[in-house]
Amino acid sequence: MTAARRATSSGGDLAKRGPAYPKAVDNLIAEFAALPGIGRRTAERLAFHVLKTDEARAMGLARAIEAVKTSVRHCDRCWNLSDGHLCDICRDERRDRTTVLIVEQPKDLIALEQTGMYRGLYHVLMGRLSPLDGIGPEELTIPALITRLTGAASNPGGVAISEVILGLNPTLEGDGTALYLAEELKSRSVKVTRLARGLPSGSQLEYANKAVLADAITGRQNID
Ligand SMILES: [Zn+2]
Repeated sequence: MTAARRATSSGGDLAKRGPAYPKAVDNLIAEFAALPGIGRRTAERLAFHVLKTDEARAMGLARAIEAVKTSVRHCDRCWNLSDGHLCDICRDERRDRTTVLIVEQPKDLIALEQTGMYRGLYHVLMGRLSPLDGIGPEELTIPALITRLTGAASNPGGVAISEVILGLNPTLEGDGTALYLAEELKSRSVKVTRLARGLPSGSQLEYANKAVLADAITGRQNID
């Protein structure tokens, strides 16, 4: 479409739109608007907030964004967020390295850690199986999980895993992923359990309250 046609089809009278923002402001608005859950109006409000705010504070925001992109990575063993090869949990020798709790996202791990009820390690799948979207085991960290289970050397401390707890979200895809993993782990000499069913179906672990999550961990059930 040519510029002339575009002008005509959007009402024609360009003068009515008023002056445009400086390019830098437009860019900032566009960046905010690209964030999840942020519409154009909110993006404008945030951009104007940054413009108004004092320089030290605004630069602090810019540096915080830069720092997460340059210094935060995924743990080599469990895919938790980390500032080094191994995350704090994998590095901690006081954790029970024979037990691994499988979650979908780092956010779920944080929610479970906040209960203070779990002392084992984790494995973050980085999503869940979704055949319709083309997400199979290879798109997740399932091959790395199998490696951890197969050779103790791949688990922190070189300790063999004896229990795997399935901590997926109780959603259709979360349940499907748990079913797949239970089947996959059946033939291995490892106990497989799952979080107790206190969590309402369709809910997300990250939003569950601490007491419910604590009960889900302590009341975990065997999968035969
Ligand atoms: Zn880790």
